[in-house]
Amino acid sequence: MNVHEFQAKQLFGQFGIPVPRGKEITSPEAGLAWAAELNTPVFVVKAQIHAGGRGKAGGVKITKDKAAVPGLVKELIGKTLVTHQTGPKGREVRRLLVEEGAAIAKELYVSIVVDRDSGWPVFIASTEGGMEIEEVAAHTPEKIIREAIDPAVGFQGYNGRNIAFALGLPAMEPAVVNPFIQMMGNLYRMFMEKNAAMVEINPLVITSDKKLIALDGKVSFDDSALFRHADVQQMRDLHEEEPLEIEAGENNLNYVKLDGNIGCMVNGAGLAMATMDVIKLAGSEPANFLDVGGGATKETVAAGFRILLKDPNVKGIFINIFGGIVRCERIAHGVIEAAKEVKINVPLVVRLQGTNAEEGRKLLAESGLKLEVADDLWEAAQKIVKLTGKAA
Ligand code: GDP
Ligand code: MN
Repeated sequence: MNVHEFQAKQLFGQFGIPVPRGKEITSPEAGLAWAAELNTPVFVVKAQIHAGGRGKAGGVKITKDKAAVPGLVKELIGKTLVTHQTGPKGREVRRLLVEEGAAIAKELYVSIVVDRDSGWPVFIASTEGGMEIEEVAAHTPEKIIREAIDPAVGFQGYNGRNIAFALGLPAMEPAVVNPFIQMMGNLYRMFMEKNAAMVEINPLVITSDKKLIALDGKVSFDDSALFRHADVQQMRDLHEEEPLEIEAGENNLNYVKLDGNIGCMVNGAGLAMATMDVIKLAGSEPANFLDVGGGATKETVAAGFRILLKDPNVKGIFINIFGGIVRCERIAHGVIEAAKEVKINVPLVVRLQGTNAEEGRKLLAESGLKLEVADDLWEAAQKIVKLTGKAA
């Protein structure tokens, strides 16, 4: 789960990481009142969407004029912001952050992610803050610093010093070295205590009066640990999420919407990944990832159909089931029953393999449903690609 910048900054504040004074604002009137209360030389009005690149897309406005704040709020609220992370459709801005401006002397980059190879949290840092870190990594990889933290030992002072020295902070601004090391410790504590999957500060700025401030914040959380964090759950913004993914979640389905036109219903995440690969290999694109889980029932299959068919891009459905724990004739019954409930108006190819596959295929073939049955994965993929109008 992702949260907005203003929410990330609330958490930073709780963990002793300095942030500008700011408040979530959703109307010009509230903007006016808050600007008066803030009473600062520079005001920053920032669009709150779950995507970066807002600065370049016009989603960050800076003014010295208190009276201009309500106008900027009015300008941004309701606007659709297209950034390099939103896709061409963009995101509607519904919430803003209005905060005091900072006098920036230097912009740094800091984040913590989990390194897949070691399984350890790793700090990523760079002196090239403010801009897209992907660009820095691609063109000047030597400017990316890594510091892995042994979770059994936790963050130690030397970890902080390693990062500070690798960034050249002592030469850049000696006054911020110790606060920086302390801040990295706080960031690590937040990452662990809140079960984050990623925390990022970009930019982390050194101000002209030698202070460190987190000027932007991005946090994503491990969904499997959300039950431990009622405060984080409350930060969820459903407007920022894919409606079909929300519906899938309510039905305990693992669904991720993609851009292709072949809807996939598969049991098991690994098989679902393989199914997406084989669709691509056959010359088309999957419309989604959908894992109905090991114990697929009539209900889960029906919910799966409903969700797949709500995506207007779906021109065909490919069901790929391996009967390991679940028996294929049960799945076949599930498909037949579900098809009675949900009108399927696109071509359907079903591939069954594993326990009682023969029986399952027979049930489907005799069901009177308009579908094609296959036992071979490659054959099935070529069939559905052909039926949806693309050359295999
Ligand atoms: P992002 O583009 O979505 O990552 O949004 P950011 O919050 O990182 O803002 C983009 C850029 O706006 C930053 O890198 C800064 O250069 C600039 N910016 C944001 N807040 C301030 C501020 O308080 N003062 C000044 N001078 N610039 C700011
Ligand atoms: Mn940023």
